[in-house]
Amino acid sequence: MRDKDLYARILGIKSPWQVSGVELALSEGEVTVHVEQEEGVQHWCPTCGEVSPGYDSRKRKWRHLDTCQYKTILVADVPRVKCK
Ligand SMILES: [Zn+2]
Repeated sequence: MRDKDLYARILGIKSPWQVSGVELALSEGEVTVHVEQEEGVQHWCPTCGEVSPGYDSRKRKWRHLDTCQYKTILVADVPRVKCK
């Protein structure tokens, strides 16, 4: 099993999101998991639930629960949508 698949399983990352990369910083005791949306995915407004066009995205980071004692950081470009 590849590291991306492993982390997708451990962290419960499911379609339309996927793990695009895993970086292990052994000396810092830290693993960074990059998550991205699959191509051609539609975006929904989080307020009203309507399918809405995306207009940009922002890189966000979250601390996840540790995996195997490694501080685990999720990084993703979170899409922003334009809703009427
Ligand atoms: Zn809306």
